[in-house]
Amino acid sequence: MLNIAFIAHDRKKEEIVNFVIAYEKVFVPHNLFSTGTTGTRIMEQTNLSIHRFMSGPLGGDQQIGALVAQNEMDLIIFLRDPLMAQPHEPDIIALLRLCDVQGIPVATNVASAELLVKALERGDFAWRELVHKYKPGIVE
Ligand code: PGA
Repeated sequence: MLNIAFIAHDRKKEEIVNFVIAYEKVFVPHNLFSTGTTGTRIMEQTNLSIHRFMSGPLGGDQQIGALVAQNEMDLIIFLRDPLMAQPHEPDIIALLRLCDVQGIPVATNVASAELLVKALERGDFAWRELVHKYKPGIVE
């Protein structure tokens, strides 16, 4: 069971909902996390249960980043809006930086998200289970 986070900026919310609907079965066995509104939107349209953090502009990216810093997040799907300035740009950069620090797979558009999910489905991230086994964290 892996820890997976979803984040989508406002003009990408419909895209992430459709994406998660399409791959719902792949996500069912995992621990799912999200920023506030993204999680609400996904839960409204799927049967998935998602642990929702704060909304992104209020610190949700940083909360997810804290799990990345502790090497507890295994995969992040973060549909950014490349055409609109975000008030919490520093938080976004910080989250992506932490993903690079820990070597955590992060997709920032739906094409790469699709490749990561197919890899997840194939079991390519099974090595992350070992990370959890030998470094138990705050999330089960
Ligand atoms: P939200 O946050 O899911 O609460 O909208 C995402 C963001 O805008 O960073």
